[in-house]
Amino acid sequence: QAESPTYKRVLLKVSGEALLGGREYGLDNATVKAIAEDVRDTVALGVQVCLVIGGGNIFRGVAGASAGMERAQADYMGMLATVMNALAMQNALERMGVQTRVQSAIEMSSICEPYIRRRAIRHMEKGRVVIFAAGTGNPFFTTDTAAALRAVEMGCEALLKGTQVDGIYSADPRKNPSAEFYTRLTYLEVLARDLQVMDAAAISVARENGLPIIVFNIHEPGAFREVMLGHGRFTTVK
Ligand code: UDP
Repeated sequence: QAESPTYKRVLLKVSGEALLGGREYGLDNATVKAIAEDVRDTVALGVQVCLVIGGGNIFRGVAGASAGMERAQADYMGMLATVMNALAMQNALERMGVQTRVQSAIEMSSICEPYIRRRAIRHMEKGRVVIFAAGTGNPFFTTDTAAALRAVEMGCEALLKGTQVDGIYSADPRKNPSAEFYTRLTYLEVLARDLQVMDAAAISVARENGLPIIVFNIHEPGAFREVMLGHGRFTTVK
């Protein structure tokens, strides 16, 4: 008998950093393709999937601000960076035969659809992967917050956060080998211990709406699909 996934509809947040591969800037095609394959295989399980992609591999508002730019202006550049990443992911998925739509929080009608909540839900019901670009459309926010917001708007049962490690630890396990791994945490534990998983605004949106956050390693081949089947290592925040 075929295994059945834990959730019917989820949002996967992929940071811009995750698309770097070994690079210091921009997109690594092989990495984008590997993540797209994992999304394709998860969709094949019958899971409705939407994506939020960050932009940190190209531009971050805070970096622009610390170089002397006006913060809001720099943040708009950061949001544009997320659109590039969304188009790259759309390209990779469509080449594998996965139907997709990009919806941007900032209108760019010649490139993608504008964000329309009910239309996005309809796309997902038809089995299309919806990629949300331009974050929330507002400066001073992050794509983590956009991910929590869109997940709630879409009625997703969980927010999957693909990171560089396999879950939440008491400290960065790449720097501190004795760091403790957590299987389960509450929203308040994440906030109180200042665990660097998502920013506080994102955690608050998830908490207020009872949206579970699942943190896993996006670079483990097939990890997204495995987590959807309840396998492998991950941290659940709820
Ligand atoms: N950004 C923004 N509002 C949003 C989402 C993103 O202003 O709702 C800008 C912000 O400057 C941020 C940049 O876009 O630094 C890239 O997003 P983020 O840093 O969240 O990307 P990630 O860290 O996931 O790669």
